[in-house]
Amino acid sequence: MLLFTGACGYIGSSTARLFLEQTDYKIWIVDNLSTGFEIHAKTLKHLYPDRVFFDLLDLSDMDKLESLLKTKQAQGHSVQGVLHFAAKLLVEESTRMPLDYYANNTLNTLQLARLCVKHQIKHFVFSSTAAVYGQTKTLIDENTPLNPINPYGASKMMSERILLDTAKVAPFACALLRYFNVAGATHFNDYNSPFALGHRAKNATHLIKVACECATHKRPSMAIFGNDYSTPDGTCVRDYIHIDDLALAHLEAFKTLQAENVSQIYNVGYGRGYSVAEVVAKVKEISGVDFKVQMQGRRPGDPASLIANNTKILSHTAFKPQYASLETIIKSAYVWEQYLAVQPC
Ligand code: UDP
Repeated sequence: MLLFTGACGYIGSSTARLFLEQTDYKIWIVDNLSTGFEIHAKTLKHLYPDRVFFDLLDLSDMDKLESLLKTKQAQGHSVQGVLHFAAKLLVEESTRMPLDYYANNTLNTLQLARLCVKHQIKHFVFSSTAAVYGQTKTLIDENTPLNPINPYGASKMMSERILLDTAKVAPFACALLRYFNVAGATHFNDYNSPFALGHRAKNATHLIKVACECATHKRPSMAIFGNDYSTPDGTCVRDYIHIDDLALAHLEAFKTLQAENVSQIYNVGYGRGYSVAEVVAKVKEISGVDFKVQMQGRRPGDPASLIANNTKILSHTAFKPQYASLETIIKSAYVWEQYLAVQPC
């Protein structure tokens, strides 16, 4: 059995589905549903009824998690690894609520690592972020010095350090995945069914989702946050990766971790960037909808450019991206948003 924290969210649920499809593991999901959606656990359970378990739990309640773990063990389920997705992840919010980010992201990761050591759970896959790097000029490789410019990035940087230091002194090894900008919807969805996995959010803030919400008339307009950055068109540049590729990166990093038992850090992106203006233009082109876009000031905490050097994950694991095209990402995100527009909830 594998423990997936936060798998009622977008990335965790998509990754859980891939693990269920491609491995024999049972998956135990814990999620506090603060930003996740129970429909994702229900969808996974619908697809794999005997292999998915769900507990509503906030990770700050480590005693409860430990007691559930003991129950699972008593029922004959040995937890062989943890994939830790549960986190707060909004850059701007983190600048307003830093303590919530350090408590929820850093402290909970520390306690989870402690639980793993205590119960001999050796393998840990961690959702990190390109935000650990801060401002950078060129392609970022994993040795680029860490200099986060917002509490979100700092909370993840500290969590990484905790996990790496733990691995030095305990029978424990981790794969730290520094995500660049994930977007799009899985190609495995059946859109005729109420059971589908994707990016749900009560108040979306991520660029491709926001733009697709405009294209499906869920919101009347959107803003571009800053056009005075030192980038080719003045708007921020990001390396967008399709959700199915990000899920696959977890699977391959986990397999390598099991085979080698050595902690590794991986950038997970495609190695090329698009500006905010380019993304917005592409959403308009694909949807054929010319929604309203206002230019606004910079959003606090945003670095100008984040593009992955992804050589390490490509050479050190069997990961091979399948959907490395902005058009593919946006098309799937748009279809997903059209699906959501006709869902009852
Ligand atoms: N962005 C924007 N308008 C929006 C949402 C995002 O201009 O409505 C910009 C944001 O300022 C950043 C880029 O799009 O430069 C990517 O932001 P997002 O929130 O998608 O991801 P992040 O890089 O913050 O994780």
